[in-house]
Amino acid sequence: MVDQNPASGKPLGVENHEELSHIAVTQQQFAQATRFIASMKAGLIDFLNVPKRSLTVCFPIEMDDGSVRTYHGHRVVHNRVLGPGKGGIRFHPAVTLDEVQSLAALMTWKCALVGVPFGGAKGGVVCNPKELSESELRRITRRFTSEISPFIGPYIDIPAPDLYTNAQTMAWIYDTYDILHAGRNNRAVVTGKPPDLGGSAGRAQATGLGVLFATEHMLGNGIVADLLSLAGARVVIQGFGDVGAVAASAFTGAGAKIIGISDSQGGIVNPEGLDLDAARAHKKQTGTLVGTPGTINVSNAELLEIDCDILVPAATSFQITADNAERIKTRVVVEGGNAPITLQADAILNQRGVVVIPDILANAGGVTVSYFEWVQNNQNESWELDEVIQKLRRMMHRAVDDTYQRWQSLRAQAAPSEDPAQISLRTAALVVAIERVVKVTLERGIWP
Ligand code: GLU
Repeated sequence: MVDQNPASGKPLGVENHEELSHIAVTQQQFAQATRFIASMKAGLIDFLNVPKRSLTVCFPIEMDDGSVRTYHGHRVVHNRVLGPGKGGIRFHPAVTLDEVQSLAALMTWKCALVGVPFGGAKGGVVCNPKELSESELRRITRRFTSEISPFIGPYIDIPAPDLYTNAQTMAWIYDTYDILHAGRNNRAVVTGKPPDLGGSAGRAQATGLGVLFATEHMLGNGIVADLLSLAGARVVIQGFGDVGAVAASAFTGAGAKIIGISDSQGGIVNPEGLDLDAARAHKKQTGTLVGTPGTINVSNAELLEIDCDILVPAATSFQITADNAERIKTRVVVEGGNAPITLQADAILNQRGVVVIPDILANAGGVTVSYFEWVQNNQNESWELDEVIQKLRRMMHRAVDDTYQRWQSLRAQAAPSEDPAQISLRTAALVVAIERVVKVTLERGIWP
């Protein structure tokens, strides 16, 4: 399946010949940031730019009708300098090794930025969960886990939920790994588990809540002159999964007005503010938000172009491209999902003065509570929800402050050849993260 441009419906890259290799985009963002890192030892750029280990597996699954299908999956560890690999496993028809490698690199920078002691990793299985039964999904999960099992572990590489995987998927991964490695506490091999299997309170809401904390605190820092809080802000959210649906409620609780939301089938709009309970009830009844009474139906492409204060893409990657970036009418984009903006679109938004709160900051709440879960599992403890949320808020605020301060100093100290206005929050966040990984790499020393 080829990703499509939401604006034109054409395969991505057709109109503007934009570079759309996921890993190339991540590496170019990395290159933009390393220009500002003076302490970069020669050769380290190459090391930090490539995944440490890429594993591709193919395996047969017996389907419910008795036929056999071969599935392909990947698990990539980008970097392990700060600790074991950490990152989700996604089930999606568009999964490619290129995408998984790019997302693993994002995890390295996300973990470093938010300050959790993990490296970056990611995994994916090429499949369409919407067309699979629960027992087929269980067999795919167990077989994939067994294939990657020598390379994961509580201190090696720790998977978590991602696109179209959830607590149930994590329970199957844990169970499979535990059967293959009996006789020890294996709970910390995977995070995002069901609560009665060692899952942390708050993990399911963590990414969406983190999006709220990052946005609120960045606005509070004054990133947009006349938008200092969410009170009364008009918000559009693309994606109504674990991130988008939680963020919609959380933003409403903070006083924002949600005027547009969408799922994979389309969007709904009400300029006066949506009734989220009614939208949820409609989705539960019909399988989609589209058609919720009292709302206007729009396509996902149209949703992105609604005039609003804050736009939260919380679905799949490459949604804002060179083809629609000029038409995005928001003041702030908050990347709830990973890599929703292409390189050219990023530059266009920056030039137009649209602030982008980047994925490695905005959606770091998920991996932060995954870290809390890992700590609780290792200590055989269980923390209360309010303790988790308080700790999450503190860590998100710290990451926002570190990014904001670095952004200010990068702009203030820009060389005469640089246009300070072109230095984005994404570059600042990456500079903070890369500097941390570089420092620890040099402290540990290059082996042997
Ligand atoms: N899949 C999530 C992400 O992209 C969470 C990863 C984790 O919890 O390890 O950040």
